Amino acid sequence: MKLATKMIHAGAEPDPSTGAIMTPIYQTSTFVQAAPGDHKGFEYARSQNPTRFALEAAYAEIENGRFGLAFSSGVAATDAVIKLLQPGDEVVCANDMYGGTYRLFTKVFEKFGIRFHYVNMQDVANVQAAMSERTRLIWTETPTNPLMNITDIAAVATIARQAGALLCVDNTFASPYLQNPLDLGADIVMHSATKYLGGHSDVIQGCLVMNSQELRDQLYFIQKSCGAVPGPMDCFLVLRGIKTLHVRMQRHCENGAQVAHWLRQHPAVARVYWPGFTDHPNHDIAQRQMRGFGGMISFELKNDSVEEARRVLSSTRVFSLAESLGGVESLINHPASMTHASIPREERIKNGLSDSLIRLSVGIEDADDLIADLAQAIG
Ligand SMILES: *Cc1c(COP(=O)(O)O)cnc(C)c1O
Repeated sequence: MKLATKMIHAGAEPDPSTGAIMTPIYQTSTFVQAAPGDHKGFEYARSQNPTRFALEAAYAEIENGRFGLAFSSGVAATDAVIKLLQPGDEVVCANDMYGGTYRLFTKVFEKFGIRFHYVNMQDVANVQAAMSERTRLIWTETPTNPLMNITDIAAVATIARQAGALLCVDNTFASPYLQNPLDLGADIVMHSATKYLGGHSDVIQGCLVMNSQELRDQLYFIQKSCGAVPGPMDCFLVLRGIKTLHVRMQRHCENGAQVAHWLRQHPAVARVYWPGFTDHPNHDIAQRQMRGFGGMISFELKNDSVEEARRVLSSTRVFSLAESLGGVESLINHPASMTHASIPREERIKNGLSDSLIRLSVGIEDADDLIADLAQAIG
């Protein structure tokens, strides 16, 4: 089945009791049994909920996987993956991951004896060099936030397989419309469904998709034992969001390309980060593993100061100044003072996050209005 058809029909079965075309919001905590143990497959809603099951089936289908699991947030999904590990196990991960992932690894899981090695994954030789016999997991994210670095998923999957380690890819920025890591050899795909999958900035949720039955059983056990499950209303919202993912992503890609090219020729802009440029350092890999380049763009100003960045950020009228991404509306953000403020300035600059770096989540409004808004803000 082609992508567009899959996005609309994934996980959708008419409701067995009424024929309702949209899966109802089963807002219930428990299910009545005819006799002890005599039930319809539903006992208690932390373990089973029909709305969540429909969404989990959709997650699996759109990522070309066999099994999907929904979590109450993206970080709860990440948390479940790390709980597959034991004290003494090692993880090789990217050095420019989502900040919340870094915080979970360093501040929560290190104290349980799990060791994390942070490497620059743009060069897969660095991944190979960080592997040891205790490496159980490789965690990567591509494109990255906010510098849009690209990791070669197939190459890292080969390293994982040879070492007997699992590969989990955070596919939030690309969405399943642009990239399917399981097809490239990953064992688990993770999403913050809060972003493109939900798509309307109205829900917090995460998911995992995998092919292995054994891995699914372990992760389902963690999901129900640790309890970070999403409520049925949130599941309904993401199910509805997925139905338009393909049309939204097409527009995100078109608008993203227009805004990126416009920014690049602007005399006050020093540099634009977007994997669609042919001179992006890993453009060839992006071209190979993605179907488009998305609507996430970062840029630096020639006047590289926090003050100038703050002036631009406070001047947009269509772009809203806010954290998060992937919704229909365009957002603008300043990593140095917002999402990455907890990183000391020297460390931040060393990692390529300059004072004036501005990140855009280009929405699906009219591109002319978006460009006019940036033009008046940058001046
Ligand atoms: C937002 C985000 C997360 C965390 O997801 P939440 O839904 O906010 O918990 C993880 N990875 C990436 C790339 C994200 O953008």
